[in-house]
Amino acid sequence: MKLVFATHNPNKLEEIKQLLPDSIELLSLTDIGCTEEIEETGKTLEENAYIKARYVKTQYGLNCFADDSGLEIDALNGAPGVISARYAGPQKDNEANIAKVWENLNNKSNKAAQFRTVIAVCIEDKEWDCEGIVRGNLIDEKRGTGGFGYDPIFIPDGYTKTFAELGSEIKNKISHRAKAFQLFLKQL
Ligand code: IMP
Repeated sequence: MKLVFATHNPNKLEEIKQLLPDSIELLSLTDIGCTEEIEETGKTLEENAYIKARYVKTQYGLNCFADDSGLEIDALNGAPGVISARYAGPQKDNEANIAKVWENLNNKSNKAAQFRTVIAVCIEDKEWDCEGIVRGNLIDEKRGTGGFGYDPIFIPDGYTKTFAELGSEIKNKISHRAKAFQLFLKQL
């Protein structure tokens, strides 16, 4: 079966390719010639994931899944959530996003947060979604050089190091994305 992963990110594509059975031919947006930007106008991670998966199913007639992830901070009622990449503005600046988190958490004692991934799936006439969550705490300094986004300020529960210090091998086993993908693979 041909299955499109609605991403242009070659790292994400390779990561999931390793986990899929040989019977599934995994294709990226680039592989199917989809160069247009699919606008993520949803108000939730679920809405955005479905927008991307349904776009490919409708426009290209191909089975597809799409993911959307974000950081949800307890003391900020789940912000930045769906706007994690653009928290400090449209320029998607990681440094500015982290600075904004610190600013908004400044007077709060509760530093608990979670990363959440939602995967929306459109296969034949069926649609469903699955999620993965990793809980942890935010710190007020940056530690580590690995990963991306909010990784240097997030310590997952059960660990003493940030995602940026733990490295991709551990992160890829315990992350929100890894959990969502494992669930998705079981349901395939
Ligand atoms: P995406 O849906 O995977 O593109 O994630 C959207 C945004 O959420 C990213 O640009 C980051 O700001 C944040 N984010 C998602 N996953 C992670 C992660 O694993 N580490 C750090 N930040 C993340």
